[in-house]
Amino acid sequence: MEKQTAYASSERRRLEVSAQTHGIVCAHHHLYSSLVRGMPAPKQDSKSFLDILNNIWWRVDAALDNEMIYWSAMLGATEALMSGTTCIIDHHESPNCIEGSLTTIAEACKTVGVRVNTCYGVTDRWDDNQHLHSKVSPLSEMTSAAKRGLDECDQYLSAGGTGMVGVHAAFTCSDETLTAAAELAKKHSVGVHIHVAEGVDDIQSGARLESLAQDNWLLIHAVHLDRYLKGRVVHNARSNMNNSVGYAKPTQRSNKILLGTDGIGADMIEEARIAYARLREFDVSAEPTTVWQWLENSLELFPGAKNDVVTFDYDFADSPWHAAFTTNMTAIDVEVAGEKVLVDRQPTRVDLAEIRAKANEQALRLYERLT
Ligand SMILES: [Zn+2]
Repeated sequence: MEKQTAYASSERRRLEVSAQTHGIVCAHHHLYSSLVRGMPAPKQDSKSFLDILNNIWWRVDAALDNEMIYWSAMLGATEALMSGTTCIIDHHESPNCIEGSLTTIAEACKTVGVRVNTCYGVTDRWDDNQHLHSKVSPLSEMTSAAKRGLDECDQYLSAGGTGMVGVHAAFTCSDETLTAAAELAKKHSVGVHIHVAEGVDDIQSGARLESLAQDNWLLIHAVHLDRYLKGRVVHNARSNMNNSVGYAKPTQRSNKILLGTDGIGADMIEEARIAYARLREFDVSAEPTTVWQWLENSLELFPGAKNDVVTFDYDFADSPWHAAFTTNMTAIDVEVAGEKVLVDRQPTRVDLAEIRAKANEQALRLYERLT
């Protein structure tokens, strides 16, 4: 009965049934995927992970222009804040709009009030004649598209942008490109942010990256990685299930594990719940504290997030055993670097309705290009 009384006044509700956490990090996102929800079904059926890349993602990223990139980032960043996620590690690809794309993303996130670390994901899958190759020979020469991607990372980082050097994945890159990406990352004292052995098509990535990987690299997925590689492994439980690539068994790796969404929003508490359920399916003795530790591990990459404050509408939101099973708790207020950027579930710096309308316009433009 006492709690029912507390709900009578919103002020009392805040005092009595809310809990605060620090800012939450999404350790692997693709902000441009904010526009992809609801896209027309591809003409061809996808029977494998490589089909999904060919039929969906490599058509989408090739169609992106600057306006689409900006409004997808605005929407993705705003939705992140509304989930209590104050930091996003973004991996971006737009082969027909490379130059300036990282600055566009950074500006959008800054406008919303979200911290971002972004990178351009270089690849040799588009050859110099604009032909798409699903797999690239390690012995081939670096393409001009990969060179432009590296230049974009270099320029963005040289100008003081927060980011990494992105690589799509080893199986779409020549050895020359992988080595150049590793060298560029070293030059800027950052890591490489790369998809690793997400599907069986990238089974060679462990052997090819072994001499290059460093402790500051972000290894995304590592589902079929056949050896230890230096770096942090980012687990994306729902994306892996959605693409039917297999379970990554993150608890069996000695790397530090982080949690990402791989572009399916940025609600990290929901992602943690899903990762926990998938972990329990694998190991019934697992505890939610393991998965919530994966969220904590990301703070090393965004130390400022420790001082961000997220107020949830549930009084045990800061307890993994509660949060793992409380499916409807939401962020009420969010403070980033001392500024309230979400109040009463609404962003303070931007107009949510306007962002949804503009993002929808861009989504329709994108779908037109895909048909
Ligand atoms: Zn990804």
